[in-house]
Amino acid sequence: MTDGLDAVFNPRRIALVGASDRAGTMGRLLWDNLRDFPGEVVPISRSASIDGTRAYADLTEVPGDIDLAVIGAPADRVLGAIRAAAEKRVRAAVVLTAGFAEIGADGARLQEEVVAAARAGGVRLVGPNCFGVQNCDLPLNASIAPGAPAGDERGGISLVTQSGSYGMAVHALGLDEAMRFAKVYAAGNKAEISDAETLAYLRDDPATRVVCLLLESITDPREFFAQARRTTAVKPVIAAVTGRSAAGKRAALSHTAAMASDTAIRDAALEQAGVVRASSGLAMLDAAKLLAAQPIPAGGRVGIVTNSGGLGVELTDLLDVEGLEVPELSPALQADLRRLLPSYGSPRNPVDMTPIWSRYAELYPALVDVLARSGEVDIVIPILLARGGSPEVVEGLAATVAAMRADGNDVPVYGCWVAERSRQPQADALQEAGVPCLPWPERTAAAAGAAHRCASALGRDPSIPAARETPVLPPDTDLTDPVQAREYLASAGIDTAPVAVCTDADGAVAAARRLGYPAVLKVVHPALSHKSDVGGVRVGLSDPAAVRQAADYLLALRSGARVLVQRQASGVEFVVGGLRDPGFGPVVMVGLGGTTVEVLGDVQFAVAPVDAGHAEAMLRSLRGAALLDGVRGAEPVNAAALADLMVAVGDLLVGVPEIAEIDLNPVLATAAGVRPVDWRIVHRDDSTPGEQKADQNCPDEGK
Ligand code: ADP
Ligand code: MG
Repeated sequence: MTDGLDAVFNPRRIALVGASDRAGTMGRLLWDNLRDFPGEVVPISRSASIDGTRAYADLTEVPGDIDLAVIGAPADRVLGAIRAAAEKRVRAAVVLTAGFAEIGADGARLQEEVVAAARAGGVRLVGPNCFGVQNCDLPLNASIAPGAPAGDERGGISLVTQSGSYGMAVHALGLDEAMRFAKVYAAGNKAEISDAETLAYLRDDPATRVVCLLLESITDPREFFAQARRTTAVKPVIAAVTGRSAAGKRAALSHTAAMASDTAIRDAALEQAGVVRASSGLAMLDAAKLLAAQPIPAGGRVGIVTNSGGLGVELTDLLDVEGLEVPELSPALQADLRRLLPSYGSPRNPVDMTPIWSRYAELYPALVDVLARSGEVDIVIPILLARGGSPEVVEGLAATVAAMRADGNDVPVYGCWVAERSRQPQADALQEAGVPCLPWPERTAAAAGAAHRCASALGRDPSIPAARETPVLPPDTDLTDPVQAREYLASAGIDTAPVAVCTDADGAVAAARRLGYPAVLKVVHPALSHKSDVGGVRVGLSDPAAVRQAADYLLALRSGARVLVQRQASGVEFVVGGLRDPGFGPVVMVGLGGTTVEVLGDVQFAVAPVDAGHAEAMLRSLRGAALLDGVRGAEPVNAAALADLMVAVGDLLVGVPEIAEIDLNPVLATAAGVRPVDWRIVHRDDSTPGEQKADQNCPDEGK
């Protein structure tokens, strides 16, 4: 499936459609940018030649094979160019031209025609409306940015960006910050090649060591999830997702659906797939810079070397927020450090040499070296303040890090740069030497945190658990009927509280006697789905008279109402639910439940199927996770049973396409086990499409 992308990144012969020698035109810019490409670039132009190179009026006239068509011609000529490419059996096209889906309905129609022509002819298509692509190894610069990022230097960062301006900005940053890129891919309107394919290609691309994704939407989300899971197991994937929409909530047929905004599911899926989120494009590139320039950290223990107590403390606090630890060092290591430090320095962590600038050039490298070789930290961060950013310090640090690597020491070293601007040349020199620097503790900590999270995903088992077999839904099942729904759930291994549904008060009294006191009575009526909202749940009924009175009341709520009788149970109230997301497919949810789910908002989502391990991890991620362990003398909850229930709900969604949503709310959880006392299954046919996803912030999702 990545064959088309191979033609995009590694073409042997290119046709430039819309080539021009007129200054200031797109055709000229692309022609100039393709100059360094080692293979032949054939201009397709109305002119007879470009800069003395013979041009052809149409792609079909070019003799010999063309692997890649780079198209910068005006929008009205793109369709013709794609048809010609198809006829010529060109493997891929990069369409930089704008004026497609991004401008409205007319553009969208044209885009559809272009995609149809490409698909019909087997031409894989990048864009349209994109900044272009680069492969720094060839080099290939089929983009509108002059030169490769960081000039001739190539490296391990590959960037996929939806936004062209971000591509330009990254170029600038690459040049300024000695960042080394492997490939840049601007996806533009993403009309044909999916994000999943791009990711799969970069996973298998040996030149790519770190993948950066700047996403506004995700195409083919479920496949993307699967590919991302496989990719993050072998190389870091960092994503900045922009353009979050505030809305995106579904109409609330179930509590699960009410909680499931597009953003919530997407965020959960990315996390589950091991994709590390960055708060912005810049934060993403900061993390990539650390990961690409230094070895991947083996753990989360950080050693800090500073000449300022204040900055050391701030960095420690910020690292803590990122889940990194600045551990107190062992007495033996402290003794070693103390021998190097001035008497008033501190060998605890942060290791503080104090402003003894006469000794900076000696102390910074020596302290970094001792920490890195101690085995007590996984990352070393020297804070380079004032004269800490001198040429001598920088040279010493570069030499120390080089010596560590020569000795096989893989502890990454990240510079936290807080020296004045006039010292910038030293920061540049340190980065050129391969030790990345980030300004100030805040950016340094965020990037180190992201690097650590990427490292945690590496080596994980990328396989998606298998869902167990689920019983087919008998076609005549009425899922709105609590007894029929209960029986179906039981057949799928989900045990719910016993019930009796009665049509009169005598029946309710008899049922309560059978099921046991105290009793709970609930109204049953297809129009009264959320029963407590209409006063349709009566709890704490301790004798037949109370049951009779409650039954009379509930039966009178609506004509045709029946009454459900249960025994009152106790336990911590959780919600376990599932739904079918248009993009990510079956999803499970768990949260603190009952009638206050939406108010508490303490829920976790995951793409189904999930295994018990992931289900337990979701439970542990709840803000209220302490309730699992029992608070205020309560016994701990049987978390394993709750996790099994989540697994079963996920499997049911995966296995039974007729089910749109499931709500088990509440599930009463105790030490003994878990029991749903209320359940709601929404049949696909009952969830009208308009209600499924009120606001799509990702127009590409769910096709
Ligand atoms: P709905 O969600 O339609 O309003 P529920 O059946 O979930 O109705 O009941 C609402 C609340 O009543 C539950 O969240 C729970 O607190 C309580 N409740 C319902 N059934 C029982 C039961 N069998 N034992 C204890 N509490 C119950
Ligand atoms: Mg309920």
